[in-house]
Amino acid sequence: MLVARSAPECRLYLDLHPCSCGEAAFPVRHLLRTGTSGGLEAVYEGTCPRCGLPRRFVFTLDPATPPPPPAYGGAAASHIICPGEFALVADRSARSTPVDPAGLTPEQRQRGRAWLAQALAAEEEIAKFIPSGLDAVPPEAFTSHEGRVLYRREPGRFHRDRLAAVAQAYREALAAYG
Ligand SMILES: [Zn+2]
Repeated sequence: MLVARSAPECRLYLDLHPCSCGEAAFPVRHLLRTGTSGGLEAVYEGTCPRCGLPRRFVFTLDPATPPPPPAYGGAAASHIICPGEFALVADRSARSTPVDPAGLTPEQRQRGRAWLAQALAAEEEIAKFIPSGLDAVPPEAFTSHEGRVLYRREPGRFHRDRLAAVAQAYREALAAYG
């Protein structure tokens, strides 16, 4: 069962789980329904535009009210996206726009702000995997292949201080975008 904390988290999960042909994007039909256990379920379904296979994801929504987007969830860690995946999303999002917004058009600035806000939201998810009393994300928190590869290569990225410093850098970049 996929327990999701918010709609952005469902969307990110879709992005991270492409079709067997490699295409992640598909025209999504989205509906909410009451599940058999009485909780709310979010269904995302459609057809892969590249190979025609059906795509379908059913999430059970965490009953806690989600914080506003682009946050992926509240204080509790994700059940479905691992800290390594969040780190990769933060990297990719931050790289999608220049650190210095000088010379960008208003549209580029607006897109840049959205990328940086997503980078910050993803970075902030990682520290939620640190158990109280510890200073770093424990190895067993990494459950995806890509996440484990990143952790083996750069374990230092997952220390509390380093995570806070990177999040602060994203906050400053976001402030520079105005
Ligand atoms: Zn496909």
